[in-house]
Amino acid sequence: MPTIHHWGMVIGGTDIAANQRPRLERHHPASGQLVASFAQGSEVDVNAAVAAAASAGDDPSWRDLTPAHRSDLIFEAARLLLAEKEDLAAIEAAETGKPLHQAVGEIEAGAQLWKYAAAVLRAQHGQFYPHLADNRAGLVWHDPVGVVALILPWNFPFIVAAERLPFILAAGCTVVAKPSEYASGSCLATAAILKRAGFPDGVYNVVTGLGPQVGAPLVDHPGVAMISFTGSTDTGRAVMAAASRTLKRVSLELGGKSPVVVFADADLDAAAAAVIHGFTHNGGQCCIATSRLLVQDTIAADFQARLRRDLASFIPVQAAANQPQWHKVVAFMDKGRSEGRTIVEGGPTNDGLTLRPAVFADLATDASVWRDEVFGPVLAMASFTDEADAIAQANDTIFGLAACVWSGDEARAMRVARRLKAGRLWINAPQDNFPELPVGGFGASGIGREAGLSGIATYCEVKSAVIRKQEKA
Ligand code: NAD
Repeated sequence: MPTIHHWGMVIGGTDIAANQRPRLERHHPASGQLVASFAQGSEVDVNAAVAAAASAGDDPSWRDLTPAHRSDLIFEAARLLLAEKEDLAAIEAAETGKPLHQAVGEIEAGAQLWKYAAAVLRAQHGQFYPHLADNRAGLVWHDPVGVVALILPWNFPFIVAAERLPFILAAGCTVVAKPSEYASGSCLATAAILKRAGFPDGVYNVVTGLGPQVGAPLVDHPGVAMISFTGSTDTGRAVMAAASRTLKRVSLELGGKSPVVVFADADLDAAAAAVIHGFTHNGGQCCIATSRLLVQDTIAADFQARLRRDLASFIPVQAAANQPQWHKVVAFMDKGRSEGRTIVEGGPTNDGLTLRPAVFADLATDASVWRDEVFGPVLAMASFTDEADAIAQANDTIFGLAACVWSGDEARAMRVARRLKAGRLWINAPQDNFPELPVGGFGASGIGREAGLSGIATYCEVKSAVIRKQEKA
């Protein structure tokens, strides 16, 4: 019997166990068993959390820490996160329905981002321009932007937080996190770990609950300086519009409809395996899912036959995260059948919210399965004639989060990758990541970049100063 967690919220270092509102229950997406319940926060909790974060940001115990000391705290947090990876992964797996071994890998990868942010912080410092003019010098400082609202999705709760939170803390900001109502556990468990690592109370606060009741007041709050939002493009638009009223800084990581381009000279076994992984991993619920396949016309029939063969024995390991999501994906599969030709028949299984993957071809360029993010195991495929055609079709989207290129000709693969409008590219490679690489998207996939060398600067205000040397009389 899995542990059932009944979580409170964390405001100013205190565990707020309950409020008057009914709790939100979370059930495992495949088994339907109750795995967790979360407090349902409101504007009252948002106000308290922003006040706690603002006060912690101005407290000498955090404000006056040297970057070296902040870096030590972040390293210590990384060590504790790794030491507790099994517990964190169990929480993550129960709430999202992902396999436990995958969740363990995600906690490990996330902890590497914490280590990386700590290391980058040690390597960064202001700039000094000694000879701006005869008796003057210039300085550039990076100040924390202030209180950051960190709004998170349910598909990779820990990893998405790890791409942002250690960098936000490295910048010296304080945080009010609003995790997804479907998967808040790892975000809450992180609060206890940060406390043990030595972060002062109030530096990291967590308010759980629904988007309109917690996320929206957080975005509106005048005490919040910046919104770091990861979620759907529609919600991202609403967040940006609301943030404009108080001119908040925004960093938005949104949806995608990413292409994978396969040339005839590619290693077709490796490409087919990567294509299948690219649209089915995490039940297809990946922002970087490569759900538009472009195959060179000379091998299109062969590649379709490979997909049919390889998907015949495919066993889905992860269900849709929730009922509305399941209905949305099933509706997309119905649309795909009417909009194009079914290459692989997908659909519901007898196992909870699990879905078999579907592949469609011969779609018009305005077909919804070709254009819209499904966030489920649905692949739309088309063919191309040459490099220029592949690039034009791949870039014909409002999104630009990720893209893959497969070709035996490395120079061509690089040439094509260079022309694709996407923040993250894989060239003859499966879709994994190094902690050193920044993430983010073009167009409707978002604004700004997270992690990487500039990950801390994302959460800084830059100040410049000119100093004049006083001449002694
Ligand atoms: P979502 O937009 O429904 O919710 C994201 C978060 O926003 C949740 O915490 C939600 O409660 C909150 N929210 C909802 N309404 C709000 C409002 N009005 N104001 C403020 N906050 C509000 O997204 P989701 O369904 O949780 O996640 C799936 C989506 O996230 C997909 O589109 C996926 O592509 C995207 N995603 C993007 C990335 C990336 O790095 N680009 C990573 C993961 C997920």
